[in-house]
Amino acid sequence: MIIYNKKFISQFILMGTVISLELFEDKPDAVEAVYHYLQKAEKEFSANDNCSELMRINRSAGKQPVTVNSNLFSVIKQAVEFSKEYRTSFNIALGPLVKLWRIGFADQRVPLQSEIKSALQLIDIDSVELDESRHQVYLMNYGMELDLGAIAKGYFADQIIVLLKYFGINNGIINLGGNTVTFGVNQVVSSHLWKVGIQSPWQYRGTMVGEVQCRACSAVTSGIGERNFQYKGRLYHHIIDPQTGYPLENDLAQVTIFSSSSLYGEVLSTVALFSGIDNGLLLINQIPNVSGVFISKTGRIRTTSGINFKAIA
Ligand code: FAD
Ligand code: MG
Repeated sequence: MIIYNKKFISQFILMGTVISLELFEDKPDAVEAVYHYLQKAEKEFSANDNCSELMRINRSAGKQPVTVNSNLFSVIKQAVEFSKEYRTSFNIALGPLVKLWRIGFADQRVPLQSEIKSALQLIDIDSVELDESRHQVYLMNYGMELDLGAIAKGYFADQIIVLLKYFGINNGIINLGGNTVTFGVNQVVSSHLWKVGIQSPWQYRGTMVGEVQCRACSAVTSGIGERNFQYKGRLYHHIIDPQTGYPLENDLAQVTIFSSSSLYGEVLSTVALFSGIDNGLLLINQIPNVSGVFISKTGRIRTTSGINFKAIA
């Protein structure tokens, strides 16, 4: 058995986060291809760039259907299906509320109650009309907006693994800021298992509270600890409750979901966060081949069954 002792690490900043690739081979062409893929994907999927494909759909709300490329259509279609399945939590039609709060951006603020009330009228997922044969998306009411912030990075992560494999890279780890995917085997340790760190929701990035040993898998975290601000002694974070229009309030600070698909894991991390610690554990335990690590606001850590988790004291 060969144990490699070299890793090649590439990092770049896109989509408001640090993207990193850790590979065992020095293949600049592959890294360049990932960078170009993500740059193009950002231009298509971003709700923060007025010229993106997604914003073309949003700008045409209440006016006309918009034809989009097959990748964007496919993600929107899956996201609409998940939004219908998990109506009280995950909802990609939440754009008007996300734009009102602007959490994570320089102009973040607590909106007026009247603004929230108006925005809540514009988040009906049943008013998103899809035409599969034409790849058309139509938001039926003026002012509606799609936001793919809780699903797109999962899709990109899955696609990057396909791209790296196309370049003959079969082992490595990628991180899209909250979405980590390990693929193949870990060539620097004899067990060949990967270790995925679970970050503390409240401390600086890189402060770990535990680690999970796993074979190739996706690990997606949703939490309230990083994108937030304080106003008049209250914490406002970026995960918005479609039932109230305000940031979600329950006993959880963070959920990390382990699954084979990063897109599915990303949806479930948001849904599980909404479920609270007890119901969230029940929900994830019921889904085959999916597991999770839950951290409550008081710092209590609980995991689903069948997960190889070790706390770091
Ligand atoms: P998750 O928990 O996975 O998702 C939370 C995000 O989803 C929120 O930030 C919001 O956008 C949305 N959301 C909130 N509540 C819900 C809900 N109930 N249901 C569904 N969705 C919800 N950030 C920047 O700072 N600058 C940028 O220019 C920028 N560009 C981006 C471009 C793209 C294509 C993408 C995918 C993201 C970009 N981001 C950018 C980051 C984005 O604004 C979100 O903050 C990020 O996607 C959150 O990811 P997460 O995994 O941390 O959170
Ligand atoms: Mg996420």
